[in-house]
Amino acid sequence: MTFLLKRARILDPSQKLDMVGDILLKDGKIAEIGEDLFHRMAEAHEVLDCAGLTAAPGLVDMHVHLRDPGLTYKEDLFSACRAAAAGGVTSLLAMPNTRPPMDEPDMVRELLERADANVYTCACVTKGMKGESLTDFAALKAAGAIALSDDGVPVGSARLLLEALEKAPGLGLTICVHCEDLDLAKGGLMHKGAVSEKLGVPGIPRAAEDCGTARELAAAASIGAPIHICHVSTRGSAELIRDYKRRGLPVTAETCPHYLLLTHEALGGRDADFRMNPPLRTEDDRRALIEALKDGVVDAVSTDHAPHSPKEKADFLAAPNGSIGMETSLCAALTALEGELTLMEILEKMSTAPARILGIPGGTLAAGAPADVVLFDPQGHWTVDPEKLHGKSRNTPFKGMTLRGRVLATFCRGRKVFDDR
Ligand SMILES: [Zn+2]
Repeated sequence: MTFLLKRARILDPSQKLDMVGDILLKDGKIAEIGEDLFHRMAEAHEVLDCAGLTAAPGLVDMHVHLRDPGLTYKEDLFSACRAAAAGGVTSLLAMPNTRPPMDEPDMVRELLERADANVYTCACVTKGMKGESLTDFAALKAAGAIALSDDGVPVGSARLLLEALEKAPGLGLTICVHCEDLDLAKGGLMHKGAVSEKLGVPGIPRAAEDCGTARELAAAASIGAPIHICHVSTRGSAELIRDYKRRGLPVTAETCPHYLLLTHEALGGRDADFRMNPPLRTEDDRRALIEALKDGVVDAVSTDHAPHSPKEKADFLAAPNGSIGMETSLCAALTALEGELTLMEILEKMSTAPARILGIPGGTLAAGAPADVVLFDPQGHWTVDPEKLHGKSRNTPFKGMTLRGRVLATFCRGRKVFDDR
């Protein structure tokens, strides 16, 4: 199918392009962008009038728990891709804490064979995510993994982490780390502070994350290896990353929309949909993360999309950590960052930057690039109704909230994968 998007406001952070005009999507690629592509109208199977709408590179979500294989009652490859499309996400990086954990080349191959071209996967850093011995990085890379992570937990020991950091860059693999001191976090169910005290619920101190971040950064810095810090939630971690970046070290970092829009106050109603790891923090942390996005300390916004069934989430204390996020990511970010970052800057954090960090196509509307495009109304609004979301699970922390912006259509490699116009 060939699509002509007419009269859109075209925003492409990769080229600093901000214009009103037309985009032709043909043969799965961005064929042409121009002020008026009237002369190519005859080629299009469908012409979309995009007046008042914004067209941008499809989002690249570099932190997604697909739950496939093994936990497909929560989500599977296809339901996750539906949620992604509804949120304007056109490329995603799957985390390997599946059942069993994705630590064998055959598992990587099997997932990628079933998936669309824009599904990428991490493989485990350690066998079974047990933190005892490293996986076979070269074989996992050959099978198609583009990054490594034991996300869900930190890499078992600093020694193994250092070994992994020594090996991975030579193979072109990005190491993505979940920063947490498990001993400090032990037993904690939410951020340790005024709200956890009021509820009488054991807390996770900021130090649990900050000590983890410090270890990962120190290990990477000791050998000058690149490292990517996942889901930053505290002021302390942002400041550590700022310090290492100032020293010129190749560190990148992400945060998630829920840390930018919500705080631990949201847990006052004892609803487990607001429990994730790291937990929602304080207003001071939220402000620090916005500042860190502004000054480039945090490079990317990912979702940490972590589906769980309603049954699992029913009990506030017993529920597993995690919240879904792909379908709400753009609009939650637009809501949280209104007046803080420009639309171009927000799109850069959600498409161009993660594509660059991972070294994958996407995050650009340059001619010849994959036709991965999100079409949205930045002035639109919608109220999040969990029952109307497109994935399998319902555990959104934005339920009932009215978010700014509305995704109207998503194109992935030139196919229209979502249309809500
Ligand atoms: Zn994590």
